[in-house]
Amino acid sequence: MPKKKTGGTKIEEELCWEYPNIAEKAPEQIKKAAEFAEGYKHFLSVCKIERECVNYAEAALVEAGYERFDPAKKYKAGDRVYDVNRGKSILATVFGTRDIRDGVRINGAHIDSPRLDLKPNPVYEKDEIAYFKTHYYGGIRKYQWGTIPLAMHGVIVRKDQTKANFNLGEDPGDPVFYISDLLPHLAAKQNQRPLSEGLKGEELNIIIGSTPYPDEDVREPFRLQVLKILNEKYGITERDFARAEIEMVPADKPRDVGLDRSLVGAYGQDDKVCAYPALIAQLETKNPAFTTVTVLTDKEEIGSLGNTGLHSDYVRNYITALCENQGADAKEVFANSACLSADVNSAYDPTFSDVFEKKNASYLNHGVVLTKYTGARGKSGSSDASAEYMAKVIDIMDRAGVYWQIGELGAVDAGGGGTIAQFVAMMNIDVVDLGVPVLSMHSPFEITSKLDLYNTYLAFKAFYEAED
Ligand code: MN
Ligand code: MN
Repeated sequence: MPKKKTGGTKIEEELCWEYPNIAEKAPEQIKKAAEFAEGYKHFLSVCKIERECVNYAEAALVEAGYERFDPAKKYKAGDRVYDVNRGKSILATVFGTRDIRDGVRINGAHIDSPRLDLKPNPVYEKDEIAYFKTHYYGGIRKYQWGTIPLAMHGVIVRKDQTKANFNLGEDPGDPVFYISDLLPHLAAKQNQRPLSEGLKGEELNIIIGSTPYPDEDVREPFRLQVLKILNEKYGITERDFARAEIEMVPADKPRDVGLDRSLVGAYGQDDKVCAYPALIAQLETKNPAFTTVTVLTDKEEIGSLGNTGLHSDYVRNYITALCENQGADAKEVFANSACLSADVNSAYDPTFSDVFEKKNASYLNHGVVLTKYTGARGKSGSSDASAEYMAKVIDIMDRAGVYWQIGELGAVDAGGGGTIAQFVAMMNIDVVDLGVPVLSMHSPFEITSKLDLYNTYLAFKAFYEAED
């Protein structure tokens, strides 16, 4: 027998609100979410870096009938186009049935993740071990990157402009690479360091060999031996590293986490956990009212600077080209456009609860997070979404039955961060952050919930399919 409601509990139900755990409220989603996560895990396993994400997305778009945007052609509702920026960012569009002057619907996620880049002159030897020197990219906690298997991804352009592509350390038969740390027996002095210096930047040196070139006249035989192997396998010399983008990333595969398999553990989920559902939502949107623009961008982790990041004009130029194609003034289109800045938020961590403010934190399994503002201190460096735009996005999600929650990055003055939202806002476009809560964000093995991933996909689809 359900308990009889008192007057107070009835009013409480009407007036108070708590964002529910989806598994409690909609257990029927668990199976669907688990199925969706299988495609996501595959994506993560083959897309560790931005170039690989672009290649994956381009192949999926072409397979679905998208063609490279051609300004000379005249496009109509239902036509599908895409464009690639320097192999590291990609844009995709379905033309809508409404006049483009009514605005476009943009969903922007980033496909770069924190990692260790090789320095431009990386190869050295010390005391009979050969190493790569690295320079970290994005915000990492350096001590987390020691004693884990690393893989080598990226590209080296040879003198003749041909390319050597690297994807080494992912197949079970591949070698992996490694940053050493001290054994506890000898770590007494290192243990006195602050955690931020547990491993220092210049200690993130990657072991790549320990065999000497067999000639005692060679000055640095361990360095020469690895260079010889690289030359034989990839046709490169040491000087070619000056023409390279090599990224060292965790070699682990995505895994289910927990006895109930409710969570996904993997490297690079910030922000591929938004990029993947964004791509799927774009692919599944066939005849939208509003023209869609899905952006998978680079460089977010270093402040969106650089010509493949959102600080560049490449997105503005692409949308302007769409407008010109439709005979519309881009400024008018921007003013009427709406954007989801699809990026992750920090999931509440019960073990480290003091950096969160519980009523405004986002929780695993409570759905996609709507983050009104990011930034640090007094919302500095944030694009604070308007009440009106929040109302519009919430309405779209509510009508589609999406499970969503609000979330701040952490307690006031506990820290902060930013996303691409501020750069979208610079185009005079309405924008708000929406994405998946992540546990251990920026670590080599981040955790997300399958239910949150699934509802993020539902939110992106609802945003593209909404008719108003
Ligand atoms: Mn992010
Ligand atoms: Mn990030």
